[in-house]
Amino acid sequence: MRRWNGWGDAAVSYPLPDSAAAVLTQRVGPGIPPRDASLAEVLASVPPSRLPPHPLVSTEPEVRLRHARGQSFPDLIVMRSGRVPAFPDGVAFPRNSEEVRALFSCARDAGARLIPYGGGTSVVGHVNVAPGDAPVLTVSLEHLQQLHSLSEEDRLATFGAGVSGPQLEDALRARGYTLGHFPQSFELSTLGGWIVTRSRGQQSLGYGRIENLFTGGRLESPAGTMVLPSFPASATGPDLRELVLGSEGRMGILTEATVRISPRPEREDFHALFFPDWERARTAVRELVQSGTPLSMLRLSTAQETAINLALSGHPRMVGLLSGALSLWGVGSEGCMLVLGVSGSQRTVESAEHTAMGIAGRHGGVRIPLLGQKWLKGRFRAPYLRNAAWERGWGVDTVETATSWSNVPRLLTAVEGALRGALEDQGEQALVFTHLSHVYPTGSNLYTTFIFRLGTDAGETHARWLALKTAASRAMIANGGTISHQHGVGTDHRPWLEAEKGALGLSAIRQLLGTFDPEGLLNPGKLV
Ligand SMILES: Cc1cc2nc3c(=O)[nH]c(=O)nc-3n(C[C@H](O)[C@H](O)[C@H](O)COP(=O)(O)OP(=O)(O)OC[C@H]3O[C@@H](n4cnc5c(N)ncnc54)[C@H](O)[C@@H]3O)c2cc1C
Repeated sequence: MRRWNGWGDAAVSYPLPDSAAAVLTQRVGPGIPPRDASLAEVLASVPPSRLPPHPLVSTEPEVRLRHARGQSFPDLIVMRSGRVPAFPDGVAFPRNSEEVRALFSCARDAGARLIPYGGGTSVVGHVNVAPGDAPVLTVSLEHLQQLHSLSEEDRLATFGAGVSGPQLEDALRARGYTLGHFPQSFELSTLGGWIVTRSRGQQSLGYGRIENLFTGGRLESPAGTMVLPSFPASATGPDLRELVLGSEGRMGILTEATVRISPRPEREDFHALFFPDWERARTAVRELVQSGTPLSMLRLSTAQETAINLALSGHPRMVGLLSGALSLWGVGSEGCMLVLGVSGSQRTVESAEHTAMGIAGRHGGVRIPLLGQKWLKGRFRAPYLRNAAWERGWGVDTVETATSWSNVPRLLTAVEGALRGALEDQGEQALVFTHLSHVYPTGSNLYTTFIFRLGTDAGETHARWLALKTAASRAMIANGGTISHQHGVGTDHRPWLEAEKGALGLSAIRQLLGTFDPEGLLNPGKLV
């Protein structure tokens, strides 16, 4: 069963290794384990529902509690402390488009607002219920998970948009195909959520971003139904798929989505390489992506992240042996680790690896056997460590942005610097480190993790997080970064949107949302 106050399956936990706790104690100070509220305590605070009974709607307190928040750091604070400011008045579980339309009528009759809910893995407040006078009906799309059609000839598959990552890949695997979209939230997030938040998978370099995979679908909006046909290409004016991508549940509910699929790769390899320093590593990665070599993934850690990941791995003896071996190859304390993925036919993989290792080698890159496969094994594990760190008294969160290659050094320095200094006036420190997880011929995303001590209560912890998040967001906007490369806007990035889109751009987005949802029924307060 899913954890109600943290990430993932409640039966799965990865304790923080003692050696990792020692590193955190040394770098940010000893954590003070917080007292978490129990499920029973939080359930006792769920108020009576303001919605009339409806056959599609559950008003059970535990169901409402489990759909009240997403997975952002503020969501974690609220759930762990038990101080939840608002709950949905009910959660609906429609099974088809017709039932989704019936819910719009139900919301109108009850004066309610609707929040579409995919996997609830948003990290920017997308699915949160804000306190207010209008009742709130959260619409879980978990029953819309069927594979409706799969055409091998067209390489297209149509799914219910509430299908989760594992359900989708299982259905495709049974027919010899894959979508190849693997965000770190894969086990819980959904196809509809990926599309309307413009998500990125770890292997998007090879399989394409969700924008390239989403070819059409069906959107139920309060103003009517919009069907998006799957043409291979079309020149009929603006592409309506672009309106749905990034619409964050404000335009309508995507009930079906058609996606491009690929045959399962004959071979898939992941390699770990180490470079002597950041400058050489970054240049190698830029050259790799600009060379057009068919790779599925390039994920480059700075020297700081490389050192911290090794220190936090909980295997000090192995790390010692690795460091010794690397130093023989000229990689010392400034070493930067790259994970490089290749998927495809035997021949494609061999040829791509040959080219990639040649480029990497010219910049001093050294391949360490087995480490790439180890990364693959643990690729969805990191979020579980956030639960464990919280329980030991440390907060872990991330910020992400993107910019052109020439601006990467400036933006990286600015964001990391802002985070390191954000808690200085409170006498606290943040441990900060970055990797480039999605690269393009023109630039890269920057994904920065920060770790800090929890406060003595929820209010103090939230104030620390807010100081960190605000400092990083300001630095992004002031230094040529986007406010989000992959997590979307929700509520947490909304204040920064105008700086990026401009007043005219924002007004155009508002008008668009008004066309599809003139009464403002859907997901109020998110995106704009
Ligand atoms: C541990 C962790 C790791 C993550 N890793 C990544 C990553 O690698 N890459 C990445 O891009 N993101 C990542 N995320 C962020 C998150 O998983 C993505 O934003 C994801 O796309 C959200 O999908 P979801 O189904 O959970 O949507 P939800 O969180 O349920 O909803 C997100 C938004 O989409 C709307 N929505 C959902 N489904 C529909 C629908 N069918 N129709 C209309 N609106 C809908 C909701 O109203 C809401 O506004 C991560 C999050 C966590 C917690």
